[in-house]
Formats: sequence, C-alpha cells, structure tokens
Amino acid sequence: MGDFQMIVGNAEIVALSDMNCVYPTPLADLWPNVPYEGWDAFRDRYGDTFTDGGHGTHMNIEIGCYLVRSQGKTILIDTGYGPGPVEYLGGLKGELWADLTAKKIDSAQVDTVFLSHLHLDHVGWNSIEQDGHLIPAFPNARYVMHRADLDHFRRPDVHARSRYPYMDECIEVIARAGMIDPLDGDSNLTDEVRAVHTPGHTPGHMSIVVSSQGQRAHIQGDVLIHPAQVTEEHWTPLFDGDPALATLTRHKLLNELEADGTPVISCHFPAPGFGRIVRVQGRRYWQAGL
Ligand SMILES: [Zn+2]
Repeated sequence: MGDFQMIVGNAEIVALSDMNCVYPTPLADLWPNVPYEGWDAFRDRYGDTFTDGGHGTHMNIEIGCYLVRSQGKTILIDTGYGPGPVEYLGGLKGELWADLTAKKIDSAQVDTVFLSHLHLDHVGWNSIEQDGHLIPAFPNARYVMHRADLDHFRRPDVHARSRYPYMDECIEVIARAGMIDPLDGDSNLTDEVRAVHTPGHTPGHMSIVVSSQGQRAHIQGDVLIHPAQVTEEHWTPLFDGDPALATLTRHKLLNELEADGTPVISCHFPAPGFGRIVRVQGRRYWQAGL
C-alpha cells in the first residue's frame, strides 16, 4: 500500500494532488495578525512549508484532494485549482486529472463530489472543457456543499470581489446541469462518512469525519491551512472570512482531535497531509505520518 492511502475500518482514503506551489503573497501579508519573526519557531519543524529550504519569505502550499471509498460509493473531496493555467500562480496548471488517471480512478466512477467550501482552490476541476464548452467533469456525480457557501459566494458583492470568474465556470455550470445537492447542516454521505459544519474560514465550510469499525479519521479542510496553527490557533490567514469564528472552530476541533488521537488529514499541509495532533513540552504540534 502506498503512503498516499489510509484505511479506516472498511473505508479507504486516497490522497490526490492538484499541485504544490509557492503562494505569491508574502507570509507577512498573507498572515496579517502574525509577527513575521513568529514563523521562526516553526521553520525547522515544518521546513517544507516555507520557500528556500525553510528560510524563505513565502509559503509552500500543497493543493491536495482526497478520494474516499465507503460502502460501494466513491466520494471525491475537493477538486483543486483546476486545469488552469492559474494566472496569479505564474500560469501553473492543476494535475488532479493526471493523478486520478495515474491511480486508475475513472471520473465516471465518482458518485459524489464533496466541496469543503467554495474557494477557487477547492472547486477547479468541477468542470472541464469539451468542444469549446465547459461540462461537468464527473458526469455521474452529485455535487454536494453547504447551502451557506452556495448562497454566500453567489452574492453579487462577494462575486464581484473575486479576482476570477470561477463561480460561473465551476459552480453555475454544475448548477445548470441540475447536479448540485446543497446541505443544510451536518449530513451523512454514507453510514461511514459524515460532513460536519466547521464554519469561519467560510460561512458554510465543512469537514469530513470517516468512522468505520471503531476507527476514525478527520479530513479538516481549511480549518487549518498551515501546521503552525496547531500550536498558534489564533493565527488567521487572509482567507479566513470570519477570523474570530475560524479561531473558535480551530480551538474546538483541535481539542477534540488531540483528546481522542484521531488521525487528521490536511489538504494544504505537505502531501499526503496525513498526521496527528501531538503534545510536546506542553504545546500542541502537527506530527506528519500515520
Ligand atoms: Zn484552500
């Protein structure tokens, strides 16, 4: 079994990668409430998450997605930046499609595309181009997300603030095809896979809890986007829409995950993003690996 797979009882989680990139906004601007020297405490421990071998001014960020197989269903968790080229990432192109192909996962097999939230780095491969038109990339899937995000990101003022027209390309194409099932709160996708509301990063942000045969794993989405937030849970990136609520959600989730030792899966941490919350000399840290 490759290191990109995790077994949770009768369920299976496969890590997928859309890209690993240098985020172009410098750390100092991306994390407005973090003193720049604050990162120094984490540069050795999480060297892969900073440029220049851990010493740089920018963040290296993984754009991970996951496939969950449970009770005969195939569920894709998030769809990355998409085919691109992504202009503000210097023209990078997402590689999720190639990774699915390499892992012998046929797009027609996907029953559910679950979107943790509707930021552009999580919805990019919802649609693909065919004969000059955008079509749903997963033709047999229902696309599932919290209704609060659908409503929020469709608001004209929010839509107008976005740099790119990704809602039209990645959400409305799917909506017009009648393939969206909005969720109104915590919901089971199978008996073993539960979507739970973890708001703050966005109004409808959701995580996934996989539970089977007494085992658990938590796919946390963007509750934490850098492992330093395990220790400094009040550190909030620009992308947290409601920093106070995001911090409260992080606090509650980290307490739970530390208490029961649940494996945690983090799409923006170094691939494959599998790890645990551990305590070292009184402080919490991210420990990569199973
Ligand atoms: Zn994200």
